[in-house]
Amino acid sequence: MAEERVRELSRIDGLTQIANRRHFDVFLKREWRRCHRLTLPFSMAVLDIDHFKLLNDTYGHQVGDEALVQVARVLKNFVKRPSDLCARYGGEEFALIWGGLVALEAEAMANELLERVEKLAIPNKNAPTKPILTCSIGVVTVYPESNDEMWIFGEADDLLYQAKEQGRNRVIGVDVTMNKAK
Ligand code: GH3
Ligand code: MG
Ligand code: MG
Repeated sequence: MAEERVRELSRIDGLTQIANRRHFDVFLKREWRRCHRLTLPFSMAVLDIDHFKLLNDTYGHQVGDEALVQVARVLKNFVKRPSDLCARYGGEEFALIWGGLVALEAEAMANELLERVEKLAIPNKNAPTKPILTCSIGVVTVYPESNDEMWIFGEADDLLYQAKEQGRNRVIGVDVTMNKAK
């Protein structure tokens, strides 16, 4: 019992109580391989809070911490199947895996997630995007073609970067399965 508790704690982020990066990496490998084996699509979203430094600077680190907890709580609503996971990837960056989800569904989920975060209406009055907490999301869907899953995070992260560049508070998705669907 105690050993299982220790194992559990080693997979969970202390602040937000969702999976940490270490568990994310393990889950990613496992789910990626399963989708490869079964010829299923694999979707990943990477979310980063917009102007979070400003939120900390304006209201203090503790208010920032509470905002992270609330965002994580929203994320949990987008994890429904054993093939899904949400994690705190680091700082104010989160990642989601949706094994088996096609691009259209993954993008719809990401857009809904973006809206739900906005609806928290957490003040960030000095943010140039909007005076409330918003986020940007990159989402990518592929059919895994080998057991090499290492590149997929970078792909989603690039899309996230584009979402920031294009003005933040948006989803940018790419369907890599187009022309490849089996
Ligand atoms: P952008 O819209 O480009 O993402 O801007 P940003 O301000 O969100 O990004 P930046 O990388 O400049 O700042 C991230 C901030 O997140 C800085 C760091 O202090 C804060 N941060 C990281 N981890 C935590 C945490 O656990 N708690 C709190 N309160 N702040 C954190
Ligand atoms: Mg940020
Ligand atoms: Mg960041």
